[in-house]
Amino acid sequence: MADSAHLPRRGLMFILSSPSGAGKTTIARKLLEQVPGIGMSVSVTTRPMRPGEVAGKDYIFTDQAEFDRMVEDGEFLEWARVFGNCYGTPKAQIKAGLKEGRDFLFDIDWQGTQQLYQRAETDVVRVFLLPPSLAELEHRLSSRGTDSAEVVAGRMARAKDEISHWDGYDYVVVNDNIEDCFTKVRTILEAERMKRARQTGLVDFVRHLMV
Ligand code: 5GP
Repeated sequence: MADSAHLPRRGLMFILSSPSGAGKTTIARKLLEQVPGIGMSVSVTTRPMRPGEVAGKDYIFTDQAEFDRMVEDGEFLEWARVFGNCYGTPKAQIKAGLKEGRDFLFDIDWQGTQQLYQRAETDVVRVFLLPPSLAELEHRLSSRGTDSAEVVAGRMARAKDEISHWDGYDYVVVNDNIEDCFTKVRTILEAERMKRARQTGLVDFVRHLMV
């Protein structure tokens, strides 16, 4: 019989969104490194591979014709066009993984989040990270030092647009300290894993407690 620490449960889709510069990449990396049982959802994209990227790990790279076929055949949980390229979440890997109790981390914007939520509400947990202040965000977005004022202003405008969608999320965490923020995000994941409805092994477990 399963012990209480390893009760069978249904996996969840953990969405982390934020304006760029609010620390999402760092938090995502720490979650993947330090929390067992969660893996990245690997998207399909039509954009060309960048140096350093690994096919099948960063993205599944494909061409427009194959992407269109996948859309046509309903193979995506959600998809979007971002900066002229197409990106989508393939259904098959997620469906099988959730059943086996694996959790998936999603790095998608608010539009993808909305679509995923509409499709799979009960499996979705939406977390939004906010920067502590606009001044701090600007500092983080310009800290590379090589970008022109226009480029930084463009990034700030996009960041403000992303921030305006904060109310479409279940949890909002202000990232003023990366370690504190990580602890909070990890706590959200661990609490969500214990939701009764996800713990598919509870009925059997409790039955054995009551004999
Ligand atoms: P990049 O090309 O820089 O890797 O990603 C560009 C944007 O596409 C990012 O904002 C990222 O969040 C978004 N993106 C990546 N994969 C997906 C996906 O499967 N669905 C949606 N909706 N957006 C995605």
